[in-house]
Amino acid sequence: MAGITIRDLIAEGVALQIRCTGCGKTYVYQGDFRLRTVATPNMRIRDLQFALRCKVCRARGEVVMTIP
Ligand SMILES: [Zn+2]
Repeated sequence: MAGITIRDLIAEGVALQIRCTGCGKTYVYQGDFRLRTVATPNMRIRDLQFALRCKVCRARGEVVMTIP
């Protein structure tokens, strides 16, 4: 999982869910456009996990991937 990039997710049509570790809110990013709004294609999932913060409580998100 560590070596998977945003580009791979776009190519495979994977839905990326970010679940907040603080308040439990879940954000879903799927598809080329949505994923590009939060990350660059070369970004690794592991790095994304540290880059994204919850919009509500600012806690770090936990990445959950859904394979179609
Ligand atoms: Zn939160």
